[in-house]
Amino acid sequence: MAEKQEKPQNVFNFDYTRDAEERPPQEYYEQVKEKFASERDLRLGYRPPGTDNYTSDLSGDLAKYAVDPYGHQVEDREVLNDSVEVLFIGGGFSALLTSARLREKGVESIRIVERGADVGGTWYWNRYPGVACDVVAYDYLPLLDETGYVPSRHYAGGQEIYEYCKMIAERFDLYDLAVFGTTVTSTVWDEESETWIVETDQGDTMRARFVVCANGTLSKPRLAKIDGVDQFAGHSFHTSRWDYQYTGSDLENLRDKRVGIIGTGASAVQAIPELGKMAKELYVFQRTPSSIDVRDDWETDPEWAETLEPGWQAARRSRAIEGPQVSDAVKARRAAMSREEKVRRQENANIDAMMRIHNRIDEVVEDSGTAESLKPWYMLMCKRPCFHNEYLPTFNRPNVTLVDTEGQGITQITQDGPVFDGVQYELDVLIYATGFEVQQTGIYNQIIGEEGLDLNAKYSDGIRTLLGIHSQGYPNLFIMGGYQAFFAFNLTDVLNSQGEHIAECIDFVRQNDIHSLDCTHQAEEQWVQEVIAHRGKTNRNRDCTPGYYNFEGADNRRQDGNYNGTMKQYLGHMSEIRENMADHFVFTHR
Ligand code: NDP
Repeated sequence: MAEKQEKPQNVFNFDYTRDAEERPPQEYYEQVKEKFASERDLRLGYRPPGTDNYTSDLSGDLAKYAVDPYGHQVEDREVLNDSVEVLFIGGGFSALLTSARLREKGVESIRIVERGADVGGTWYWNRYPGVACDVVAYDYLPLLDETGYVPSRHYAGGQEIYEYCKMIAERFDLYDLAVFGTTVTSTVWDEESETWIVETDQGDTMRARFVVCANGTLSKPRLAKIDGVDQFAGHSFHTSRWDYQYTGSDLENLRDKRVGIIGTGASAVQAIPELGKMAKELYVFQRTPSSIDVRDDWETDPEWAETLEPGWQAARRSRAIEGPQVSDAVKARRAAMSREEKVRRQENANIDAMMRIHNRIDEVVEDSGTAESLKPWYMLMCKRPCFHNEYLPTFNRPNVTLVDTEGQGITQITQDGPVFDGVQYELDVLIYATGFEVQQTGIYNQIIGEEGLDLNAKYSDGIRTLLGIHSQGYPNLFIMGGYQAFFAFNLTDVLNSQGEHIAECIDFVRQNDIHSLDCTHQAEEQWVQEVIAHRGKTNRNRDCTPGYYNFEGADNRRQDGNYNGTMKQYLGHMSEIRENMADHFVFTHR
């Protein structure tokens, strides 16, 4: 069992240097690539590149899609006009991790301001049936060394992760000053007092010396822009606002319901098997299929858990961040290859992996037409890969219908339900699995720095940060999960490194009789150039089918994305910056 628990998620690490014995001729790979390109072009023909086919302005008739269905437990409280030392906007893993590091540094005055009714962030909001994390729990759940907790499964379910978030908040005394059911609406730097003034939708005006934007990477739900969304007479909601009052806690109320779900991304892939088990009829409206790989899950072996030595998670994370051990033979083969050869081989290996995913669909899905529709025609990792063992078999159920919109998507909804290709799908309930706004800093919240400069206005000429964390003109403000930072499949690795960095910076300020720190224009410019230098080494992003990994097919400035160096390089930059603070920051003293 212990051995099994160390098995890597190897779908991302194919060795392309080895000459496979029975590899098809290169023309085969070229044909597959042509098919990839035609499927991408088909989609871009139906919708212009970019996010215009979505709306996250959930106001007016759409306001019901943003309402917190779990928030009834928020208690009335007095309006706050007080001061804290560190204020977090958002109460998910970003805030929890960083707060834990700040507590280790002796910081006492920490406030979380959270829109939901508790901590947890993503895991507070996403409670749809089947919700779980596809990153191995021993890696994904942070602070396991500190809390002594061992996840119950190889892949933890959403409920367990949410409970764990609350455990962290308890363990580090984060509930004392926290406020819930509260959305930060403005964060303004007061030059006079050199503090941030934070206003909320509950009428609060709080002050904080340090503010951490910890609002998450995928927090604000978005809907597809579809004619007639507001016409639908049945019930409807977004996956991140699951209406259990309507569905029943075990979806038992759906037994006599015709259910539709729009979208087949990672959320839908987890919810659809559960819906398929309970709904009288289920219609899945697909624009682009996800890649569905095997999910190798098991309960944690208590004997293995017993063997874990203190510091086991940190050691495990260091090994992972170090990257897979590459043998001398592989290194030598790589060194002997031209860049073109490497790219060609990487693409071929990627296509092989994708064809294995296609083969699994043929093996599992009984109806050949449905099987064809479920096949993703793009390179693996163009979209977020999914792992599930029940998703594909769900389409063998007699009550489940895949409506393949062949790249077009649903464009019309009437009072009865979606229409596609002249067919009206009559539904009782329609679920939007249409995702979230991506990596925006300051959602719901206007951030105004020195000289009254709005952060979004500053970014309109291109995102400018140091490490994706600091932005010049916004002293004592730290950004987590934003662009220009490294982005890892295991997001908590990034958040943990950012949390450690932020805690070190705040500690540096406190220990050195400094009041505020702001990165220099030069340091910021160097980082922007570092981000640019590491982006766009191949055309892969452009060649991908549209999705949020490639800005829905839109061209964008080279600086307006994630830092594409390695995690090790990112950590190296962080350490170098912290070792030479005066080279990168200006300080004020009071
Ligand atoms: P996504 O943004 O990934 O998916 C949105 C879906 O809506 C896509 O399938 C999109 O199609 C589809 N869509 C949009 N408009 C239409 C339309 N008009 N008609 C039909 N379909 C439409 O959102 P998710 O909530 O699924 O996932 C967001 C992210 O959250 C994931 O990528 C992942 O990072 C994270 N997550 C992780 C999980 C895990 O650990 N397993 C589980 C859930 C979420 P198209 O592809 O054509 O654009």
